[in-house]
Amino acid sequence: MSTLATTPDTQRAALTILTEEEKLFQSTVRRFAREQIAPHVREMDEAGVFRKEIIRQFFELGLMGIEIPEEHGGQAGSFFQCVLAVEELSAVDPSAGVIVDVQNTIVNNAILRWASSDQKQRYLPRLAADTVASYALSEAGSGSDAFAMATRAVEDGGRFLLTGRKLWITNAAEAGLFLLFANANPEAGYRGITAFLIEREFPGFQVGKKEDKLGLRASSTCELILDNCAVPKTNVLGEVGKGYKIAIETLNEGRIAIGAQMIGLARGALDHAIAYAKQRKQFGKTIGEFQGVQFELAKMATEVEAARLLVYNAARLRDAGRPFLTEAAMAKYYSSEVAEKVASKAIEVFGGVGITKEYPAEKLYRDAKIGRIYEGTSNIQLLTIAKQLLGAKG
Ligand SMILES: Cc1cc2nc3c(=O)[nH]c(=O)nc-3n(C[C@H](O)[C@H](O)[C@H](O)COP(=O)(O)OP(=O)(O)OC[C@H]3O[C@@H](n4cnc5c(N)ncnc54)[C@H](O)[C@@H]3O)c2cc1C
Repeated sequence: MSTLATTPDTQRAALTILTEEEKLFQSTVRRFAREQIAPHVREMDEAGVFRKEIIRQFFELGLMGIEIPEEHGGQAGSFFQCVLAVEELSAVDPSAGVIVDVQNTIVNNAILRWASSDQKQRYLPRLAADTVASYALSEAGSGSDAFAMATRAVEDGGRFLLTGRKLWITNAAEAGLFLLFANANPEAGYRGITAFLIEREFPGFQVGKKEDKLGLRASSTCELILDNCAVPKTNVLGEVGKGYKIAIETLNEGRIAIGAQMIGLARGALDHAIAYAKQRKQFGKTIGEFQGVQFELAKMATEVEAARLLVYNAARLRDAGRPFLTEAAMAKYYSSEVAEKVASKAIEVFGGVGITKEYPAEKLYRDAKIGRIYEGTSNIQLLTIAKQLLGAKG
């Protein structure tokens, strides 16, 4: 647990001052990302496949079970550490960042909070050791309006039979466990939505088509097909009809980490631009000697820092058990704007080579686009912020 969360008000430090434990964790992930992931980023982007070997290393390093207690094989770390990990990985490859993000901040997080002790015994050790997880809420007809889902769960003795299709499911190609939402009582509207823990091998469950995407190409995004998928009642997460609450609360936390993915991406783009500005010569000087270029880099750095403060603050609030709904929405909204802008500016600093695949800026620009779409589009974040400002219901 972060010591900042327990520090008395008078001794509270700046948000970017890390504890010794956080510093060590951050430098370990940073080194791993630079040494083990960076050499494969381009090849994984082109192939649209994330290397299994790197996922195995995520588990070995404890990055897939950061908040899972030691008794279940995890690291007993903080949510803030999840944010640090996602930021560091995303500075090198945002696809790496999202794999760790979904595992920790949505699936593990929901299980830690809502699962029965039997479910925790069964799944947490696997999630910490070798099982990738997915979070399956969206469908073709229900994206922003997620609770309009058409997937149904029908009670059948000691089990539920689930039928429907999920779309856009991150990590699905690699996942062994799916936290999936279906409506068990459509007459009750959103109050029928129920969360299920589904193992890949359950009868009637199938991972379908994988999307060929603009960015974040190495991260798998697939359709899921449920055809009378038999799920034991012991695999209902939380209570029947409480899935909407689980979905809302986990996404509120998850979007802080999407903010972390975006600040990592933006920092990566800025670092590449700075390195290039120091060595590219025009008019007999490095382009970094031109004030026009310096000012662009300075503006990029300022916006990355502002976004980082929003993300760190939301994460610290979450770890301190304080309300963070508005701050999380602001962090995700602003960081994704900054990521897109900074990656675009980075391409301009590179000039013509910036749009070629020889240099990393164009990939980060493509990767940035998703930040304004998943885990609630920018409009949905703005709606959340505005509701808090205006005190509106709904
Ligand atoms: C790469 C990728 C990975 C994803 N991973 C996952 C995952 O792991 N699990 C999962 O469940 N889902 C996942 N998603 C789905 C994602 O969360 C949805 O795409 C997103 O919520 C938007 O839904 P939609 O695509 O149906 O767009 P729509 O909801 O159709 O929105 C289209 C446009 O309308 C706007 N809009 C909609 N409603 C309103 C409103 N009330 N007010 C103002 N504007 C509005 C939106 O802002 C957007 O600009 C992923 C998507 C992608 C592309």
